[in-house]
Amino acid sequence: MTSIQCGDLVGWLGLDDTDSLEEGCTTYSFHLLLQSLPDSVTIKTPRLVRLWPFAQHRTRGNAAVAVELETEDESILLEHLDRYWNNHLMPLRGNVSTSNHDERKQYPADPGMVWFSESSIDDSFYTKAVQSEVQLVDIPQADRSWGGQGRIGATAAVAWHGKKHTWEAIAWRPSNRHGQTQRSVCEKTLDLVDALPSTFLSRDPRKGTGMVAPRGPCPVLFGLRARDENTARSAAEKLLSAELTEPSVGLRTFATNQATDDHLGEPLRATIADVEVLNRGHCVLTTEHGKWLAFSESGSVKKLAQWLQPGDVVLGNGISPEFGTLHLEKLCVVSSIPNQQRPLCEECGVRMKSMGQGQGCRCPKCKLRIGDVWLETPRVPPYESWVQPPADARRHLARPLEWLD
Ligand SMILES: [Zn+2]
Repeated sequence: MTSIQCGDLVGWLGLDDTDSLEEGCTTYSFHLLLQSLPDSVTIKTPRLVRLWPFAQHRTRGNAAVAVELETEDESILLEHLDRYWNNHLMPLRGNVSTSNHDERKQYPADPGMVWFSESSIDDSFYTKAVQSEVQLVDIPQADRSWGGQGRIGATAAVAWHGKKHTWEAIAWRPSNRHGQTQRSVCEKTLDLVDALPSTFLSRDPRKGTGMVAPRGPCPVLFGLRARDENTARSAAEKLLSAELTEPSVGLRTFATNQATDDHLGEPLRATIADVEVLNRGHCVLTTEHGKWLAFSESGSVKKLAQWLQPGDVVLGNGISPEFGTLHLEKLCVVSSIPNQQRPLCEECGVRMKSMGQGQGCRCPKCKLRIGDVWLETPRVPPYESWVQPPADARRHLARPLEWLD
């Protein structure tokens, strides 16, 4: 997808890490950069690519952006990019928020930008960057690159194969509204848009609240997700033109790897050796593949994990931030061991008791003795097939189970 023949006037531009936790947003920096490009440059479909959720230097949503550009004169484009980098992007370096609302360690922004025209890039780099931690030394060599850590995400966004994809139309607020956490997006129009078959995660079905507007002070007014490009754009335009939606300074529709499950490998089959429910409801399953964690926020996943017993066989999928630990994102019961009980006494209806190993059973009332008998009743799982966390506790990358294709 990104291999370019020598002499072609097309190439790929990637950008990442222009935002700290509180300020800025890589999508907005990118929007402004695209707006600034000389007229001789044709802008193709921009892309928003989510990466390894546990990356050390990750930005807020851990998303990088890229776009294919076509130009008559690469040198004019590169001169422009050099200037734009120095004036607008490099100065964002070192921005860091002082808020403590997020418990994770905060790294200052370390923007990076890459340009690939002659050089080709293997999409295996994308897979690596969405499924594991990647270091700066691991990135393929770009034809031109600027900045620091952000080059990792920028390169991965260029390398994305886009085999599975969805769309997100993002609208940004004017600069005088940046920093404010309140946003007004017309609820009534959002209802209409949410009812379209192609849109997804516009509203939280459990809470009935909108999910298109971020909560923080960043420049994004809303991001509207859909499975096709036209719906994403037209629904976003409908939202923007609604009277109760506040003004926006721009709208772009991105192809994204959201809802693709690209961060997951193949499901693992495991036999449960132990189930431990921690306080707050987190559940730890001990399996032959290590510890599988179902967090309390994970809804049905947690409920199903808590129901399991040693001997049950399950399929699970998730990501491993450290070796031997899987954070469950999907779980399914393959088989469950039955409940076992001693039979009732034929004479008096009292439950028989074991006399000890190999000693058979005895009625505690009439002392009638029988052999070592168990009655088995099947345990029926609370869910018949795969479960995943509720919409608001899912990763951007997680594919909804109800999508069968
Ligand atoms: Zn009895």
